Amino acid sequence: MVAPPKKSQAVPLSQSGKLYARAKELMPAGVNSPVRAFRSVGGTPIYMESGSGAYVTDVDGKTYLDFCNSWGPLILGHCHEEVKAAINAVVAKGWTFGTPVEEEVKLAELVCSHLPELELIRFVNSGTEAVMSAVRLARAFTGRDQILKFSGCYHGHADYLLIEGGSGLATLGKPSSAGVPVAFAELTSNIPLNAYAKLQRYFEEHGNKLACVLMEGVPANNGLLVQNRDYIHLLRHLCDQYGAMLIFDEVLSGFRVPNDMAYKMYDVKPDLVTLGKVVGGGMPVGAYGGRHEIMRQVAPLGPVYQAGTLSGNPVAMAAGYATLQVYYQQNVPEKIARIGAHLDQRMNALVEPDRLGFVRVGSLFWLYFHRTEAPKAAAEIEEKSAETYAGLHKFMLECGVYLAPSAYEVGFLNAAMSIEDMDRFADTVARAKEQGIL
Ligand SMILES: *Cc1c(COP(=O)(O)O)cnc(C)c1O
Repeated sequence: MVAPPKKSQAVPLSQSGKLYARAKELMPAGVNSPVRAFRSVGGTPIYMESGSGAYVTDVDGKTYLDFCNSWGPLILGHCHEEVKAAINAVVAKGWTFGTPVEEEVKLAELVCSHLPELELIRFVNSGTEAVMSAVRLARAFTGRDQILKFSGCYHGHADYLLIEGGSGLATLGKPSSAGVPVAFAELTSNIPLNAYAKLQRYFEEHGNKLACVLMEGVPANNGLLVQNRDYIHLLRHLCDQYGAMLIFDEVLSGFRVPNDMAYKMYDVKPDLVTLGKVVGGGMPVGAYGGRHEIMRQVAPLGPVYQAGTLSGNPVAMAAGYATLQVYYQQNVPEKIARIGAHLDQRMNALVEPDRLGFVRVGSLFWLYFHRTEAPKAAAEIEEKSAETYAGLHKFMLECGVYLAPSAYEVGFLNAAMSIEDMDRFADTVARAKEQGIL
Protein backbone atom coordinates (compact mmCIF):
# COMPACT_ATOMS: atom_id res chain seq x y z
CA MET A 1 0.00 0.00 0.00
CA VAL A 2 1.31 3.41 -0.92
CA ALA A 3 0.46 6.26 1.39
CA PRO A 4 -1.20 9.21 -0.35
CA PRO A 5 1.27 12.04 -0.81
CA LYS A 6 1.18 14.57 1.99
CA LYS A 7 -0.41 17.81 0.94
CA SER A 8 2.23 20.52 1.13
CA GLN A 9 1.06 23.76 2.71
CA ALA A 10 3.84 25.83 1.17
CA VAL A 11 3.25 27.47 -2.20
CA PRO A 12 5.88 26.14 -4.59
CA LEU A 13 8.54 28.71 -5.34
CA SER A 14 8.40 30.49 -8.67
CA GLN A 15 11.56 30.68 -10.78
CA SER A 16 12.03 34.23 -9.46
CA GLY A 17 11.61 32.93 -5.92
CA LYS A 18 14.21 30.22 -6.50
CA LEU A 19 16.72 32.69 -7.93
CA TYR A 20 16.09 35.08 -5.06
CA ALA A 21 16.68 32.28 -2.51
CA ARG A 22 20.07 31.58 -4.14
CA ALA A 23 20.90 35.28 -4.46
CA LYS A 24 20.22 36.01 -0.78
CA GLU A 25 23.01 33.60 0.15
CA LEU A 26 25.44 35.52 -2.02
CA MET A 27 24.62 39.24 -2.12
CA PRO A 28 23.27 41.62 0.53
CA ALA A 29 19.48 41.10 0.40
CA GLY A 30 20.14 39.24 -2.83
CA VAL A 31 20.61 42.40 -4.87
CA ASN A 32 23.20 44.76 -6.31
CA SER A 33 21.19 47.95 -5.75
CA PRO A 34 19.00 48.26 -2.65
CA VAL A 35 15.56 49.26 -3.98
CA ARG A 36 15.48 46.15 -6.17
CA ALA A 37 14.96 44.02 -3.05
CA PHE A 38 11.28 45.12 -2.88
CA ARG A 39 11.69 45.98 0.82
CA SER A 40 9.46 49.04 0.67
CA VAL A 41 6.59 47.38 -1.22
CA GLY A 42 6.78 43.91 0.31
CA GLY A 43 7.02 40.65 -1.59
CA THR A 44 10.13 39.49 -3.41
CA PRO A 45 11.87 40.74 -6.53
CA ILE A 46 10.86 39.59 -9.97
CA TYR A 47 13.69 38.37 -12.16
CA MET A 48 13.39 39.63 -15.71
CA GLU A 49 14.65 37.60 -18.61
CA SER A 50 13.79 39.52 -21.75
CA GLY A 51 12.30 42.73 -22.98
CA SER A 52 10.72 43.92 -26.20
CA GLY A 53 9.48 47.44 -26.79
CA ALA A 54 7.22 48.49 -23.91
CA TYR A 55 7.17 45.01 -22.35
CA VAL A 56 9.37 42.81 -20.18
CA THR A 57 9.02 39.09 -19.49
CA ASP A 58 10.11 37.44 -16.28
CA VAL A 59 11.77 34.05 -15.73
CA ASP A 60 8.34 32.53 -15.03
CA GLY A 61 7.08 33.61 -18.44
CA LYS A 62 4.82 36.43 -17.24
CA THR A 63 4.84 39.62 -19.32
CA TYR A 64 4.50 43.14 -17.92
CA LEU A 65 4.00 46.60 -19.34
CA ASP A 66 7.20 48.17 -17.98
CA PHE A 67 7.30 51.67 -16.47
CA CYS A 68 10.74 51.16 -14.91
CA ASN A 69 12.74 51.32 -18.17
CA SER A 70 15.81 50.09 -16.25
CA TRP A 71 15.43 53.24 -14.11
CA GLY A 72 15.39 55.58 -17.05
CA PRO A 73 17.97 54.73 -19.72
CA LEU A 74 15.61 52.90 -22.09
CA ILE A 75 13.87 55.89 -23.67
CA LEU A 76 13.35 53.83 -26.85
CA GLY A 77 12.02 50.79 -24.99
CA HIS A 78 13.56 47.36 -24.66
CA CYS A 79 15.73 45.69 -27.26
CA HIS A 80 15.32 48.44 -29.85
CA GLU A 81 16.44 47.04 -33.21
CA GLU A 82 18.80 49.89 -34.16
CA VAL A 83 20.48 49.99 -30.77
CA LYS A 84 20.83 46.22 -30.72
CA ALA A 85 22.37 46.26 -34.22
CA ALA A 86 24.82 49.00 -33.19
CA ILE A 87 25.91 47.06 -30.10
CA ASN A 88 26.28 43.82 -32.05
CA ALA A 89 28.30 45.48 -34.78
CA VAL A 90 30.80 46.80 -32.24
CA VAL A 91 30.98 43.61 -30.20
CA ALA A 92 31.80 41.63 -33.34
CA LYS A 93 35.01 43.68 -33.66
CA GLY A 94 36.12 43.67 -30.02
CA TRP A 95 34.56 45.44 -27.05
CA THR A 96 37.29 47.40 -25.37
CA PHE A 97 40.76 48.57 -26.26
CA GLY A 98 41.67 51.12 -23.64
CA THR A 99 42.54 53.48 -26.48
CA PRO A 100 40.44 56.24 -27.97
CA VAL A 101 37.80 54.89 -30.39
CA GLU A 102 35.62 56.41 -33.11
CA GLU A 103 32.42 55.67 -31.19
CA GLU A 104 33.27 58.13 -28.40
CA VAL A 105 34.00 60.88 -30.92
CA LYS A 106 30.64 60.29 -32.58
CA LEU A 107 28.71 60.33 -29.31
CA ALA A 108 30.55 63.47 -28.13
CA GLU A 109 29.79 65.22 -31.45
CA LEU A 110 26.14 64.27 -31.28
CA VAL A 111 25.67 65.36 -27.65
CA CYS A 112 27.65 68.61 -27.97
CA SER A 113 25.98 69.61 -31.25
CA HIS A 114 22.60 69.52 -29.52
CA LEU A 115 23.87 70.92 -26.22
CA PRO A 116 26.19 73.81 -27.14
CA GLU A 117 26.61 74.68 -23.44
CA LEU A 118 28.83 71.59 -23.32
CA GLU A 119 31.86 72.98 -25.14
CA LEU A 120 33.90 70.05 -23.85
CA ILE A 121 32.61 66.74 -22.51
CA ARG A 122 34.22 63.83 -20.63
CA PHE A 123 32.62 60.36 -20.51
CA VAL A 124 32.69 58.21 -17.39
CA ASN A 125 30.92 54.97 -16.39
CA SER A 126 28.01 56.09 -14.22
CA GLY A 127 26.01 59.05 -13.05
CA THR A 128 27.73 58.82 -9.67
CA GLU A 129 31.13 59.26 -11.31
CA ALA A 130 29.87 62.14 -13.44
CA VAL A 131 28.68 64.08 -10.40
CA MET A 132 31.80 63.27 -8.34
CA SER A 133 33.98 64.54 -11.15
CA ALA A 134 31.93 67.68 -11.73
CA VAL A 135 32.08 68.58 -8.02
CA ARG A 136 35.85 68.02 -7.95
CA LEU A 137 36.18 70.28 -10.96
CA ALA A 138 33.97 72.98 -9.42
CA ARG A 139 36.05 72.89 -6.24
CA ALA A 140 39.27 73.19 -8.22
CA PHE A 141 37.97 75.99 -10.40
CA THR A 142 36.62 78.10 -7.54
CA GLY A 143 39.28 77.17 -4.98
CA ARG A 144 36.47 76.60 -2.46
CA ASP A 145 35.36 73.44 -0.64
CA GLN A 146 31.75 73.91 0.49
CA ILE A 147 28.88 72.51 -1.58
CA LEU A 148 25.10 72.90 -1.37
CA LYS A 149 22.44 70.38 -2.32
CA PHE A 150 18.72 70.07 -1.71
CA SER A 151 16.78 67.65 0.48
CA GLY A 152 15.32 64.85 -1.56
CA CYS A 153 17.70 65.29 -4.48
CA TYR A 154 19.88 62.31 -5.34
CA HIS A 155 23.24 62.69 -7.00
CA GLY A 156 24.68 59.19 -6.74
CA HIS A 157 26.41 57.54 -3.82
CA ALA A 158 29.64 59.51 -3.33
CA ASP A 159 30.33 59.88 0.41
CA TYR A 160 29.86 63.64 0.59
CA LEU A 161 26.57 63.47 -1.35
CA LEU A 162 24.91 60.97 0.97
CA ILE A 163 23.97 63.86 3.17
CA GLU A 164 20.53 64.81 4.38
CA GLY A 165 19.23 67.86 6.18
CA GLY A 166 20.29 68.30 9.78
CA SER A 167 17.79 69.07 12.49
CA GLY A 168 15.93 72.35 12.87
CA LEU A 169 17.47 75.44 11.38
CA ALA A 170 20.90 73.94 10.88
CA THR A 171 21.86 73.90 7.24
CA LEU A 172 24.81 71.67 7.91
CA GLY A 173 24.05 68.21 6.64
CA LYS A 174 24.36 64.91 8.41
CA PRO A 175 25.33 61.61 6.79
CA SER A 176 22.37 59.65 5.42
CA SER A 177 24.48 56.50 5.27
CA ALA A 178 26.64 54.76 7.81
CA GLY A 179 30.30 54.91 6.92
CA VAL A 180 30.23 58.53 5.82
CA PRO A 181 32.57 60.55 8.06
CA VAL A 182 30.95 63.49 9.82
CA ALA A 183 33.92 65.50 8.58
CA PHE A 184 32.62 65.05 5.03
CA ALA A 185 29.15 66.19 6.05
CA GLU A 186 30.72 69.41 7.27
CA LEU A 187 31.49 70.35 3.69
CA THR A 188 28.00 69.64 2.35
CA SER A 189 25.00 71.75 3.21
CA ASN A 190 21.50 70.65 2.57
CA ILE A 191 18.36 72.81 2.43
CA PRO A 192 14.75 72.12 1.40
CA LEU A 193 13.61 72.67 -2.19
CA ASN A 194 11.22 75.51 -3.03
CA ALA A 195 12.25 77.50 0.08
CA TYR A 196 13.08 80.96 -1.28
CA ALA A 197 13.94 82.74 1.96
CA LYS A 198 16.10 79.86 3.22
CA LEU A 199 18.02 79.85 -0.04
CA GLN A 200 18.59 83.58 0.13
CA ARG A 201 19.69 83.37 3.77
CA TYR A 202 21.99 80.44 3.05
CA PHE A 203 23.84 82.46 0.42
CA GLU A 204 24.05 85.52 2.64
CA GLU A 205 25.73 83.43 5.34
CA HIS A 206 27.76 80.93 3.35
CA GLY A 207 27.74 82.03 -0.31
CA ASN A 208 31.34 83.24 -0.26
CA LYS A 209 32.61 79.79 0.75
CA LEU A 210 30.50 77.92 -1.77
CA ALA A 211 32.19 76.02 -4.61
CA CYS A 212 28.99 74.83 -6.21
CA VAL A 213 25.31 74.11 -5.91
CA LEU A 214 24.00 70.78 -7.15
CA MET A 215 20.48 70.84 -8.52
CA GLU A 216 18.72 67.85 -10.01
CA GLY A 217 17.36 69.05 -13.36
CA VAL A 218 13.86 68.11 -12.30
CA PRO A 219 14.09 66.40 -8.91
CA ALA A 220 12.84 62.90 -9.70
CA ASN A 221 14.53 60.57 -7.24
CA ASN A 222 12.21 61.30 -4.34
CA GLY A 223 8.92 61.75 -6.05
CA LEU A 224 8.69 64.20 -8.93
CA LEU A 225 9.23 67.58 -7.25
CA VAL A 226 8.79 70.05 -10.09
CA GLN A 227 10.28 73.43 -9.12
CA ASN A 228 9.04 76.89 -10.06
CA ARG A 229 10.93 78.66 -12.78
CA ASP A 230 11.54 81.74 -10.62
CA TYR A 231 13.11 79.56 -7.92
CA ILE A 232 15.62 78.15 -10.41
CA HIS A 233 16.35 81.66 -11.68
CA LEU A 234 16.87 82.91 -8.14
CA LEU A 235 19.36 80.10 -7.64
CA ARG A 236 21.24 81.08 -10.82
CA HIS A 237 21.25 84.71 -9.74
CA LEU A 238 22.62 83.91 -6.27
CA CYS A 239 25.33 81.66 -7.71
CA ASP A 240 26.44 84.52 -9.99
CA GLN A 241 26.35 87.03 -7.17
CA TYR A 242 28.49 84.90 -4.85
CA GLY A 243 30.78 83.28 -7.42
CA ALA A 244 29.53 79.73 -6.90
CA MET A 245 29.11 77.30 -9.78
CA LEU A 246 25.71 75.89 -10.65
CA ILE A 247 25.80 72.21 -11.59
CA PHE A 248 22.69 70.83 -13.23
CA ASP A 249 22.56 67.10 -12.56
CA GLU A 250 20.62 65.94 -15.60
CA VAL A 251 21.51 62.26 -15.17
CA LEU A 252 17.83 61.38 -14.91
CA SER A 253 16.10 64.40 -16.47
CA GLY A 254 18.39 64.56 -19.51
CA PHE A 255 16.50 63.64 -22.71
CA ARG A 256 13.38 63.03 -20.64
CA VAL A 257 12.00 66.52 -20.01
CA PRO A 258 10.68 69.09 -22.54
CA ASN A 259 13.54 70.75 -24.51
CA ASP A 260 15.70 67.69 -23.70
CA MET A 261 17.30 69.22 -20.60
CA ALA A 262 15.79 70.79 -17.50
CA TYR A 263 18.18 73.74 -17.75
CA LYS A 264 16.77 74.49 -21.19
CA MET A 265 13.24 73.95 -19.97
CA TYR A 266 13.86 76.54 -17.23
CA ASP A 267 15.97 78.67 -19.57
CA VAL A 268 19.03 78.96 -17.31
CA LYS A 269 22.69 78.40 -18.13
CA PRO A 270 24.43 76.01 -15.75
CA ASP A 271 28.22 76.07 -15.36
CA LEU A 272 28.48 72.30 -15.52
CA VAL A 273 26.05 69.60 -16.63
CA THR A 274 26.11 65.94 -15.66
CA LEU A 275 24.53 63.25 -17.81
CA GLY A 276 23.89 59.53 -17.41
CA LYS A 277 21.10 57.01 -17.99
CA VAL A 278 19.71 57.84 -21.50
CA VAL A 279 23.11 59.05 -22.78
CA GLY A 280 24.35 55.45 -22.51
CA GLY A 281 21.22 53.87 -24.01
CA GLY A 282 21.23 51.22 -21.27
CA MET A 283 24.99 50.69 -21.01
CA PRO A 284 27.00 52.06 -18.05
CA VAL A 285 27.76 55.64 -19.11
CA GLY A 286 27.91 59.01 -17.43
CA ALA A 287 29.27 62.31 -18.70
CA TYR A 288 30.04 65.81 -17.55
CA GLY A 289 30.68 68.92 -19.53
CA GLY A 290 30.68 72.68 -19.67
CA ARG A 291 32.60 75.72 -20.89
CA HIS A 292 36.15 75.44 -22.21
CA GLU A 293 37.68 77.54 -19.43
CA ILE A 294 36.28 75.14 -16.82
CA MET A 295 36.71 71.81 -18.63
CA ARG A 296 40.31 72.72 -19.52
CA GLN A 297 41.14 72.11 -15.86
CA VAL A 298 40.55 68.35 -16.34
CA ALA A 299 43.63 66.11 -16.68
CA PRO A 300 45.75 65.96 -18.73
CA LEU A 301 45.02 69.56 -19.81
CA GLY A 302 44.73 70.71 -16.24
CA PRO A 303 45.34 69.68 -12.62
CA VAL A 304 41.98 67.97 -11.90
CA TYR A 305 42.58 64.23 -12.00
CA GLN A 306 39.86 61.94 -13.33
CA ALA A 307 40.25 58.66 -15.23
CA GLY A 308 38.52 55.37 -16.06
CA THR A 309 39.67 51.96 -17.34
CA LEU A 310 36.50 51.41 -19.35
CA SER A 311 35.47 55.04 -19.88
CA GLY A 312 34.39 55.71 -23.44
CA ASN A 313 34.39 52.01 -24.31
CA PRO A 314 33.01 51.39 -27.79
CA VAL A 315 30.03 49.21 -26.80
CA ALA A 316 28.62 51.75 -24.38
CA MET A 317 29.38 54.66 -26.71
CA ALA A 318 27.69 52.92 -29.64
CA ALA A 319 24.59 52.17 -27.56
CA GLY A 320 24.35 55.80 -26.49
CA TYR A 321 24.95 57.07 -30.00
CA ALA A 322 22.35 54.79 -31.59
CA THR A 323 19.82 55.74 -28.90
CA LEU A 324 20.29 59.48 -29.32
CA GLN A 325 20.34 59.20 -33.13
CA VAL A 326 16.89 57.63 -33.03
CA TYR A 327 15.81 60.08 -30.32
CA TYR A 328 16.54 63.09 -32.54
CA GLN A 329 15.83 61.64 -35.99
CA GLN A 330 12.49 60.08 -35.09
CA ASN A 331 11.43 62.96 -32.86
CA VAL A 332 10.96 60.83 -29.77
CA PRO A 333 10.03 63.82 -27.57
CA GLU A 334 7.04 64.57 -29.81
CA LYS A 335 5.90 60.95 -29.73
CA ILE A 336 6.18 60.91 -25.95
CA ALA A 337 4.34 64.23 -25.68
CA ARG A 338 1.46 62.64 -27.58
CA ILE A 339 1.09 59.54 -25.42
CA GLY A 340 1.81 61.67 -22.35
CA ALA A 341 -1.06 64.03 -23.15
CA HIS A 342 -3.37 61.05 -23.43
CA LEU A 343 -2.11 59.69 -20.12
CA ASP A 344 -2.73 63.10 -18.48
CA GLN A 345 -6.25 63.14 -19.76
CA ARG A 346 -7.00 59.64 -18.51
CA MET A 347 -5.29 60.16 -15.14
CA ASN A 348 -6.81 63.58 -14.52
CA ALA A 349 -10.20 61.88 -14.63
CA LEU A 350 -9.07 59.57 -11.82
CA VAL A 351 -7.40 62.16 -9.64
CA GLU A 352 -9.13 62.93 -6.36
CA PRO A 353 -8.00 65.55 -3.83
CA ASP A 354 -6.52 64.04 -0.65
CA ARG A 355 -6.50 60.63 -2.27
CA LEU A 356 -4.74 60.34 -5.59
CA GLY A 357 -2.67 62.88 -7.52
CA PHE A 358 -0.77 62.65 -10.80
CA VAL A 359 2.06 64.76 -12.17
CA ARG A 360 3.99 64.40 -15.43
CA VAL A 361 6.98 66.18 -17.02
CA GLY A 362 8.00 64.82 -20.43
CA SER A 363 8.51 61.08 -20.09
CA LEU A 364 8.54 61.17 -16.27
CA PHE A 365 5.41 60.76 -14.18
CA TRP A 366 4.53 60.19 -10.56
CA LEU A 367 1.51 59.25 -8.51
CA TYR A 368 1.22 60.98 -5.15
CA PHE A 369 -1.24 60.29 -2.39
CA HIS A 370 -3.17 61.93 0.46
CA ARG A 371 -2.58 65.49 -0.75
CA THR A 372 -4.43 68.08 -2.79
CA GLU A 373 -1.42 69.61 -4.54
CA ALA A 374 1.71 68.08 -6.01
CA PRO A 375 4.58 68.28 -3.48
CA LYS A 376 7.46 70.61 -4.34
CA ALA A 377 9.69 69.62 -1.42
CA ALA A 378 10.59 66.26 0.08
CA ALA A 379 8.96 67.02 3.44
CA GLU A 380 5.59 67.56 1.74
CA ILE A 381 5.31 63.92 0.73
CA GLU A 382 2.80 62.21 3.02
CA GLU A 383 4.43 59.43 5.00
CA LYS A 384 1.51 57.05 4.63
CA SER A 385 1.97 57.21 0.83
CA ALA A 386 4.44 54.34 1.05
CA GLU A 387 1.78 52.00 2.43
CA THR A 388 -0.80 53.09 -0.15
CA TYR A 389 1.74 52.62 -2.91
CA ALA A 390 2.68 49.14 -1.67
CA GLY A 391 -0.92 48.01 -2.18
CA LEU A 392 -1.07 49.58 -5.61
CA HIS A 393 2.27 48.09 -6.62
CA LYS A 394 1.15 44.57 -5.72
CA PHE A 395 -2.14 44.97 -7.59
CA MET A 396 -0.41 46.38 -10.69
CA LEU A 397 2.04 43.46 -10.74
CA GLU A 398 -0.85 41.00 -10.62
CA CYS A 399 -2.40 42.87 -13.55
CA GLY A 400 0.84 42.74 -15.54
CA VAL A 401 2.01 46.33 -15.02
CA TYR A 402 5.54 46.76 -13.69
CA LEU A 403 6.13 49.88 -11.58
CA ALA A 404 9.31 50.67 -9.67
CA PRO A 405 9.18 49.02 -6.23
CA SER A 406 9.07 52.25 -4.21
CA ALA A 407 6.58 55.08 -3.73
CA TYR A 408 9.41 57.57 -4.12
CA GLU A 409 10.42 56.46 -7.61
CA VAL A 410 8.94 57.97 -10.74
CA GLY A 411 7.46 56.12 -13.71
CA PHE A 412 9.13 56.30 -17.13
CA LEU A 413 7.44 56.45 -20.50
CA ASN A 414 9.25 55.34 -23.63
CA ALA A 415 8.90 55.66 -27.38
CA ALA A 416 7.73 52.07 -27.76
CA MET A 417 4.58 52.75 -25.72
CA SER A 418 1.23 53.33 -27.40
CA ILE A 419 -2.01 55.11 -26.59
CA GLU A 420 -3.40 51.66 -25.73
CA ASP A 421 -0.61 51.17 -23.20
CA MET A 422 -1.58 54.46 -21.55
CA ASP A 423 -5.20 53.28 -21.44
CA ARG A 424 -4.10 50.00 -19.91
CA PHE A 425 -2.20 51.83 -17.17
CA ALA A 426 -5.11 54.17 -16.41
CA ASP A 427 -7.68 51.35 -16.55
CA THR A 428 -5.62 49.35 -14.06
CA VAL A 429 -5.32 52.33 -11.70
CA ALA A 430 -9.10 52.81 -12.04
CA ARG A 431 -9.66 49.18 -11.03
CA ALA A 432 -7.37 49.64 -8.02
CA LYS A 433 -9.51 52.61 -6.99
CA GLU A 434 -12.74 50.64 -7.42
CA GLN A 435 -11.33 47.88 -5.23
CA GLY A 436 -10.48 50.36 -2.49
CA ILE A 437 -6.72 49.88 -2.86
CA LEU A 438 -6.30 53.62 -3.40
C1 LIG B 1 20.67 57.89 -11.22
C2 LIG B 1 21.18 59.22 -10.80
C3 LIG B 1 22.51 59.41 -10.40
C4 LIG B 1 23.48 58.27 -10.22
O1 LIG B 1 23.70 57.59 -11.41
P1 LIG B 1 24.28 56.08 -11.36
O2 LIG B 1 24.50 55.75 -12.80
O3 LIG B 1 23.22 55.26 -10.70
O4 LIG B 1 25.53 56.13 -10.58
C5 LIG B 1 22.95 60.69 -10.15
N1 LIG B 1 22.11 61.74 -10.25
C6 LIG B 1 20.83 61.59 -10.61
C7 LIG B 1 19.96 62.79 -10.74
C8 LIG B 1 20.31 60.33 -10.88
O5 LIG B 1 19.04 60.18 -11.20
